[in-house]
This record gives sequence, C-alpha cells and structure tokens, in this order.
Amino acid sequence: MTSPDTASPVYACATSPAHVDVCVIGAGPVGATLACRLAREGISVGIVDRAPLPPMEHPDFDGRAYAIAAGPKRLLEEAGVWERLPQTPNPIESILVTDGRPGEPPSPLSLEFSREDATQPFGWMAEARALRVALNATLNESANVTLLAPADVSITRTTEGAIVTTKDGRVLHARLIVAADGRGSRTRSQAGIPITRLPYGQSGIVCAIAHELPHDNSALEHFLPGGPFAQLPMSGTAEHPNLSAVVWSEKDETARRLSALPEASFTRELKRRLGDRLGDVTPVGRRWVYPLAAQYAQRYTATRLVLAGDAAHGIHPIAGQGLNLGFRDVIALSELLIEAHRKGEDPGSPALLARYQKRCRPANMLMLAATDALDRLFSNNNPVLRLGRDLGIAAVHRMPRLRRAFVRHAMGV
Ligand SMILES: Cc1cc2nc3c(=O)[nH]c(=O)nc-3n(C[C@H](O)[C@H](O)[C@H](O)COP(=O)(O)OP(=O)(O)OC[C@H]3O[C@@H](n4cnc5c(N)ncnc54)[C@H](O)[C@@H]3O)c2cc1C
Repeated sequence: MTSPDTASPVYACATSPAHVDVCVIGAGPVGATLACRLAREGISVGIVDRAPLPPMEHPDFDGRAYAIAAGPKRLLEEAGVWERLPQTPNPIESILVTDGRPGEPPSPLSLEFSREDATQPFGWMAEARALRVALNATLNESANVTLLAPADVSITRTTEGAIVTTKDGRVLHARLIVAADGRGSRTRSQAGIPITRLPYGQSGIVCAIAHELPHDNSALEHFLPGGPFAQLPMSGTAEHPNLSAVVWSEKDETARRLSALPEASFTRELKRRLGDRLGDVTPVGRRWVYPLAAQYAQRYTATRLVLAGDAAHGIHPIAGQGLNLGFRDVIALSELLIEAHRKGEDPGSPALLARYQKRCRPANMLMLAATDALDRLFSNNNPVLRLGRDLGIAAVHRMPRLRRAFVRHAMGV
C-alpha cells in the first residue's frame, strides 16, 4: 500500500500522457471521496472538475448541511477525510417526527426515535462547505491522485480503455471512468444512458438558525401540507452557541415568496412551523432555494464507465439520504476496485461493472420509491390521509422493533 498523505497531486501535462487506473469525472462530495478512498489503497486515480475547487470552500458556495449516517462516516474515516473536517460534526441523538399545519400545534400522535433505538447517533451533521474543505485538503495531500480542475474534458471509451483529453491538450489514459458529475451529468448523457425524472413542484429553502434553547442533539421532521420542515442540530459557534440547520420544502412559488421575505416576516413563518421547542429563533446568514426532483438512471454502467452519486440517482431530501446513497455507491465501488487491485484484475471489466450495478441500483431504487411515497403521503391536506398517517406515525412509535429496523436501514449499519 502506498503512503497516503505525503505527496502533492500529480498534474497531467501535454507532453506525457498520464496513465491511471480510474478517472473520476466530478470532484463533488461523491467523486472526491471515491478518489481519496482509492488513492489511500495505492490505486492511481485521476479526478476532473469543470470548476476550480478552492471556491467551493467559500460559505457562499453551498448552504446545505448533511446528516451523515454511520456507514458513510466510516467511509470518510477510511478515506482520511473525517479527521480533516474543520469542525466536529454534531451528532443527532433523537428525532421527533410530527404532522400538522403551519401556525397550529402538531398532532398529538407523534413518533420519536430516541437513544434507545440505536447504539450510536443516528447521524452527524456537517456543513457542505466543511466537507469540501476536508475533501480538498485530502485530495491535495494524496499520493496517487492526478487532479485536473478546472478542466473541460472530452472522453473516448473503447473496450480497451478510456482517454480523457482536456481542451488545452492534457491527456489521461484510464481503465475505468466514474461519472460523478451530479444530476445534470454530461458524462452520463454522452454515454447515451437515459434518465427518468419526477419533478415535485417543490423547492427546498435551506438556512441556518440561532436559537435561545439548546437543541440537545435532537432533530425535528415536521410534515406540513406544503412539504416537510426539518430542523437539524449543528455544532454551535462562539457567536451562536445554539445553532441548527433548516431544510424547509414548499411548493415552488411559495418557497420563492417565503425566501424573499424581510427578516421579521421570515422569522415569523419559521416559528409558525417550528413552534416553541427552541425558544426565540433568529435566521443566520444566507437563505438558499433548491428546486426538488427525483430522478434515476436506467442503468449505471456502459463500456468502461460507471455512474455514482447524483449522476445515478437523485431523491427528495425528506429523509436527508441523498448524499448517503451516493456514499453507499462509493463504499460498494471502492470495495470492488480495491479487491480487483489486490488481485491484479482489470478495474473496468464488464463483470466488475455488472457486480457494482447489482449491488447498488436495487437498494437506491427502493430508497427513491420510499422517499417519493413519503413526500406524496405527507405533503397534502387531505383529512383522510392525515388521519391515516397520524395513526401510522403513532403505531410505529409503539413498535420498538420496527423503529430500530428503520433506524438501522437509514444509518446504513
Ligand atoms: C435542499 C437539499 C438538502 C439536502 N440535504 C441532504 C442531507 O441532509 N443529507 C444527504 O445525504 N443528502 C442531502 N442532499 C442531497 C445531496 O446534496 C446530493 O446528493 C449530493 O450533493 C450529491 O453529490 P455528488 O458529488 O454526487 O454531486 P454534486 O454535489 O452535484 O457534485 C458534482 C460535481 O461535478 C462537477 N461537474 C459537473 N459537471 C461536470 C463536467 N461536465 N465535468 C467535470 N465536472 C463536472 C461539479 O462542478 C461538482 O463539483 C440534499 C439536497 C438538497 C437539494
């Protein structure tokens, strides 16, 4: 195994084409984590992003915060990324699930996942920006990594291998291409892999809030007719010791209107959904609006190519599982590639690609279907459905074994 943390990345140059085992297109959280994980095992990796990486660390680049489940946390540790996170991620130790309408108290029939349902936290909250800082630092310190960013590349794939060429003439030969270039993946569309898209007509408002009372590491998922409202406990700062992230889904038009409200009205709308559980609330920093849609690729593979992360699947953030699914792709793919590397086998063989698709696609489709059904069941004001779901919530609350099964699945353990 090659020492992971000593050398700087290699830069492919126009005169001598570099040869790598795997070339990852897209240095987002999924692609960058895969590159770091493989490089640690001595696998040579190229990683390409059309955008420069340092600006992705800026607070204005991405307002999201991720609930990282236990399995993906282990992946980030193995990839050497977790130890480089600039702040300690905040554990989620309980989750309250409620149903209601804005400005009204939630239904008394609620569901609580508590410390008794799991042997470890349900997840750890990390800012997208913090993850970016840790990923960039790990990439930069990894031996075995050839970094091309910013770079616009064209890719030629044959049964023998792939050639990645940048507009300015740098060339990288690879035995496998991993498309991790996000929802609008050009690598996927150039490979002729169709996707199916299910728009929700909803957008997610994302922001941070400072609050009077401590969150006690507790998250809230409050189902409302316009869409789910989630409060997720974050690590505090000197300025804001009690801090949470909010992901608040509404119909597109309502989300646009709400996110543009002046501070006092926006705070009032927040409180109408959050209630009094955290005392007084103040929005902190920018508000972000992300259009929400589910989508899935018809297949995850083509000649010398696999899809991973959002390039393969995108889901509703209702359960905070989108990136976790992408990390599970990385876990499966890195296990297969590390095993092939140890045995001296071809990392782009059709058999390996087929094993990857078989491992990941059915589980991802199941999660997509589950989050889609949850959103459709809860994001409405139909009184019959309301009664049914409230009874369902309360029933699950009374079934500890079922609660624990949900938790194990969501945590990926
Ligand atoms: C409101 C909201 C809240 C969310 N909350 C959570 C949560 O709590 N937990 C969770 O697990 N998930 C969450 N998600 C989902 C999560 O954000 C995504 O699943 C995740 O960002 C996917 O990562 P990725 O690396 O696959 O793609 P991306 O993050 O989209 O990264 C793709 C990368 O590819 C690069 N790229 C694009 N095109 C090219 C090209 N042609 N050539 C080279 N590079 C290219 C881009 O510059 C980018 O760096 C949320 C999503 C939304 C919208």
